[in-house]
Amino acid sequence: MLSYEAVIGLEIHVHLLTASKLFCSCPATFGAEPNEQVCEVCAAMPGALPRLNERAVELAARAGLALHCALNEVSFFSRKNYFYPDLPNGYQTSQYVPPICEGGYLEVTTGESTRRIGITRIHMEDDAGKCLHGQAGSTLVDLNRAGTPLIEIVTEPDLRSSEEAAACMRQIHALLVYLGVTDGNMEEGSLRCDANVSLRPRGATVYGTRAEIKNINSFRNVQRAIDFEIERQEARLKDGGSIAQETRLFDAARQVTLAMRDKEDAHDYRYFPTPDLPPVLVSGEQIRLWRESLPELPAARARRFVESLGLSREEAAILTVDRPTADYFEQAAGFGGQPRRIANLMAGELLRECASSGLSPDKAKMTPDHLSELARLIEDGALSPRMAHEIFPDLFASGISPGTYIRQRNLAQLSDAGALEAVVDAVLAANPEEAAGYRGGRSKLLSFFIGQVMSRTKGQANPALAKDLLVRKLG
Ligand code: ADP
Ligand code: MG
Ligand code: ZN
Repeated sequence: MLSYEAVIGLEIHVHLLTASKLFCSCPATFGAEPNEQVCEVCAAMPGALPRLNERAVELAARAGLALHCALNEVSFFSRKNYFYPDLPNGYQTSQYVPPICEGGYLEVTTGESTRRIGITRIHMEDDAGKCLHGQAGSTLVDLNRAGTPLIEIVTEPDLRSSEEAAACMRQIHALLVYLGVTDGNMEEGSLRCDANVSLRPRGATVYGTRAEIKNINSFRNVQRAIDFEIERQEARLKDGGSIAQETRLFDAARQVTLAMRDKEDAHDYRYFPTPDLPPVLVSGEQIRLWRESLPELPAARARRFVESLGLSREEAAILTVDRPTADYFEQAAGFGGQPRRIANLMAGELLRECASSGLSPDKAKMTPDHLSELARLIEDGALSPRMAHEIFPDLFASGISPGTYIRQRNLAQLSDAGALEAVVDAVLAANPEEAAGYRGGRSKLLSFFIGQVMSRTKGQANPALAKDLLVRKLG
């Protein structure tokens, strides 16, 4: 049976976090009443001229530097012509050749595998407005979004599974939010992508014909849309059919992709350099300054967490999802305690509480020094891991320091050998048959005894100490 390999490339559209639009001074914020944020330029009145927003150039460059692209000191805007009611100019102003950034890469991690995915280019462009389809077949146009700044990040066809494509989209999202390039708000459409999908027989070196699925707005949908598309193409190819090069839509409700139109080629858009804007000039000196101002990137930070703090790759990835999380972890580790234990408490407990209360770690009442204190209480044997797990929601909700909390409630773990010995003696006296069984070779009974000690002390016994005492007394 012939088996196929999926080949996937993404075009990711990202809203830049600027105060104003790309070519005028209208606010670029989301959520205003329809057509409140519109002027002559973004409504394309005759004679109105665009002026480029410098902040948008800086943010596009930042994205490019973070994705290891080369920055072009000279790039251009072109007109990409097409007709749609939400596009008042009749063209989108977009960078064609050359764009501001070219030739980068991103290390994409899925599970334990990390692969380098090429970035073909990043270009700037303006967004279109929105059509609001109302009752009785009427359609209204809202131009608030028209002219807001986007970058499009185009990957090489290097992705090989829907899972990897979703991971790529997630990682780009996390990276660009981290850098303040975008607010990354998925509900407001700050990041959308088109997925290009083709199949080829495993081992083949040429690519098959691709279909392009437009306008996918969530990580989950990118995976589902690609899964569906791979199955659709595979079924066709196995039937002896061929794949049409076309543009498709993902219908999230029905979980299918639907043919929309034949794929257009670049020449269909009649790209030509816009006469309204000068070339985009960025000096080498400026590029150097931008490069120097980049913070430590999440991938480098994750590597440092693995190499110098001993975290697993998975923990490091979880703790570098965003800046507040990574900063919180580093602060906690700075207050003392084993970094691995702190990472464990953070990934296992704190982030879960944060997620369920909708808080980012920096807004939590539980501060990094409290987390560090909790880790140290466990390490010193004052608190069992199980007890820490049980009291965590309370600590998180109250903001009380862990030391104070366990003192107030008398929860300190029984690490006192004398006190514990009395409990161990009582347990052995109450279970003579099991004791005889253990001495007769049924060594598995040890965990029964540990369980008894734990239950008599309501979980407060230090398990390691209880075990030592039991082994000694039974031996
Ligand atoms: P456009 O879609 O605007 O025509 P390109 O031809 O440059 O632009 O391709 C856009 C995207 O399609 C890129 O992400 C690229 O990696 C991907 N792509 C190109 N060829 C294939 C293919 N055979 N299979 C899957 N993806 C592909
Ligand atoms: Mg395309
Ligand atoms: Zn405007």
